[in-house]
Amino acid sequence: MTPSKDSPPPNDTGSPGLVAPQAQPNLWTVQYVDNKGRGVIASQNIKAGTLLISEPPLLTTDVITSVENTETDLAIHLRTLPAEKQRAFLSLHNNFPGQGNPLTSIIRSNGYPLGADAGCGGVFENISRINHGCLPNAVQNWNGLLGEEGEETVYAIKDIKEGEEITTSYLSGGTSKERRAVLKQSFGFDCTCKLCDSDEADLKASDERLSRIQELHIDIGDSETVRHDPEKALGYCKELLEILEVEGIKDDRVSRAYYDAFQVTAMHSDAARAAWWAKKFCEAKVISAGKSCIDRLDMKPFTKRPQKHDCFGAFSVNWKTKLEELPKERAGEEFEKWLWRE
Ligand SMILES: [Zn+2]
Repeated sequence: MTPSKDSPPPNDTGSPGLVAPQAQPNLWTVQYVDNKGRGVIASQNIKAGTLLISEPPLLTTDVITSVENTETDLAIHLRTLPAEKQRAFLSLHNNFPGQGNPLTSIIRSNGYPLGADAGCGGVFENISRINHGCLPNAVQNWNGLLGEEGEETVYAIKDIKEGEEITTSYLSGGTSKERRAVLKQSFGFDCTCKLCDSDEADLKASDERLSRIQELHIDIGDSETVRHDPEKALGYCKELLEILEVEGIKDDRVSRAYYDAFQVTAMHSDAARAAWWAKKFCEAKVISAGKSCIDRLDMKPFTKRPQKHDCFGAFSVNWKTKLEELPKERAGEEFEKWLWRE
């Protein structure tokens, strides 16, 4: 959606349903950015949790009937769109000029999956202008509540300064070497984001943290550890959250870590701590995907009644607590010790 002076200012009604959230107008503009073609630049200071864009796809890959027919199907569908939408599509960046079919290349350069497990992708008038950053200040999500008529939303996950470029990550993480390889292979460019451009020592330190993050994801996913050595599993969650903080990562890897901590504590019947982690998960999701995001709505009941979750008590009752045991003082060293069962 192009910001319009007529758009109402509120961000998000917070109520689930069929009304797409509306972004405030004049938060950003599309501008030329050094070495990157066009990009999206903040036109004012923006707070984390602000909805930046919500827009339907210009075109989805649903129109493709077979791999061989991709270019023809795209061309046929494109002609059915209003002229300004056709122009918007054709003006998107092609990262693979001269390599194969132009419409297919535009989809390849600018498409996003419509939801985490979607077999279908979409191209967007403005969201597809947002450049990649390995340490992004925004995230995008498909608003699944709206089904096929849905919109893709982009939320700021960090405070963004006026003039700063808005970036999302096209990847799920990885070290600089891994990122470079995927970005070149799948998107056809060499990343020059702040993280990739940092000096050798900083990049090395960052790569070590990112490697450790990957190891921790695997360790936490080991159900035998969670079952037989939950203290260790909870320790992994703590280390993961600390590293994410040091690295400055605010994307969905944070809510995922909260969810991991929820599961570890819930599986051993620790209602007080599980409720806390459910709450942290919901707070993180409000920032990255808005109050009406499905993941948050699914998790919200467990902030009050974690016992109702399918996984609650699945492994033991060894950590059994009541909700009332959540300390009144929810910050500081004492609380941290309690939270991590130290
Ligand atoms: Zn980068």
